[in-house]
Amino acid sequence: MRTPREPRRVLVAGGAGFVGSHLCDALLARGDEVICLDSFLTGSHRNIAPLTNHKRFSLIEHDICEKVPVRGRLDRIYNLACAASPPHYQADPIHTMMTSVVGTKNLLDLAQTSGARFLQASTSEVYGDPETHPQREDYWGHVNCTGPRACYDEGKRAGETLCFDLLRQGRVDARIVRIFNTYGPRMRADDGRIVSNLIVQALSGDPLTIYGTGRQTRSFCYVSDLVAGLVALMEVDENPAAPVNLGNPGEFTILELADLVMDLTGSHSAITFRPLPADDPQRRRPDITRARELLGWQPRVPLAEGLQPTIAYFREALSQVPATPHKPIAPPVRRRPRTPDSVLAGGPA
Ligand code: UDP
Repeated sequence: MRTPREPRRVLVAGGAGFVGSHLCDALLARGDEVICLDSFLTGSHRNIAPLTNHKRFSLIEHDICEKVPVRGRLDRIYNLACAASPPHYQADPIHTMMTSVVGTKNLLDLAQTSGARFLQASTSEVYGDPETHPQREDYWGHVNCTGPRACYDEGKRAGETLCFDLLRQGRVDARIVRIFNTYGPRMRADDGRIVSNLIVQALSGDPLTIYGTGRQTRSFCYVSDLVAGLVALMEVDENPAAPVNLGNPGEFTILELADLVMDLTGSHSAITFRPLPADDPQRRRPDITRARELLGWQPRVPLAEGLQPTIAYFREALSQVPATPHKPIAPPVRRRPRTPDSVLAGGPA
C-alpha cells in the first residue's frame, strides 16, 4: 500500500504580499506545509488572515536583509520578498536594492544549507526600456543604472547573477522567473500601479490618471495564471538553467486599459494626463515560448475576464473605508531593524 507522502516544507518569502499570498493558498491546496515569511513592508495581514488557523501554515515576521531564522528541513524556497510597485520600491531605494541582493543571498544560503530548491522572483524590469519587442529571455536589457528605477531593476539583475553563480557552482538548485505585470485581488489600493490606480479611481469617481500619452503598452497577467507558472517552474524536474518569462502576451496601451476599466466599472470618471515618470518603459510584452516549451504553461485568463474579480475585490475593499478618498501614494514608513552601526554609534534604533 502507498504511504501518503510527507508534506513538502516550503518557505515563501514575501508570502503576505499580493502574489505571495495567492502562492501560499495554492501550495496549501496541493498539500504542502507553508512557512510564510514577511516583513510587512508592503505585505498585509489581511491577505493571509484566512490561513492563520490552517494547520500546515505558519508565519514569521522578518526582513530577509537579516539572516533568516528558519531551522530544520526545507524542500522549497520561493523568494518573492521585495516591494514591487515603482512608488513603493522607490520610497526606500537603498533597502530595495539590499532586499534583492543581501536578502536574496541570505535566502540562497538557507537553500544551500537546507538543500531546498530555490525559485527567485525576478522581473521584466531587468529588460529596462527594451529595444526589442516582444522580450525574449536572451535579450540583455536596456537599463539606466543611475535612474530612479535602478534600485529595483539593477537589484533584481544582481539577484539573478547570485542565483546563476550558485547554480553554476553546484551549490543551489536555483530557478529564475521574470514576472511581467500581474494583477488581481489583493493588490494594494495604494500600490500606485496602473491596474489598481485605475480601478480605485473609477470606483471612487475620481479622474483616471494617465502618465504621458497613455500610448505606452503593458501586458497584464492574472494572478492565478502567474501562480500556476511559478509552481510549474519550481516543480519541473530538470532545472532549465535559464530565466523563464511568465506573463500574458496580450498587449494593451494604457488608454485601452483605461477604457476597459471604465466599461467594466460603469464609471463616468474623467481622464487626466500627468507627466511620464523617468525611465518609464514604452513597450512591454513577454515572449513566453520558453515557458510553453519547458513547462507546458500558458495564461488562460483574458484581461477583460480577470479584471472582473479584481474590480469586485476593490469594490468590497473600498466599501469598508467609505470616508477615505483615494489619495495619491504616500511613501510607506518602514520600521528599521536595529543595525550594528546604530548600536555602535549609540543612535536611535
Ligand atoms: N501609469 C499611469 N497611471 C497611473 C499609474 C501608472 O499611466 O496611475 C503608467 C506608468 O507610467 C506605466 C504603466 O502605467 O507606463 C504601468 O505602470 P505600473 O506602475 O503599473 O508598472 P510598471 O510596468 O511601470 O512597473
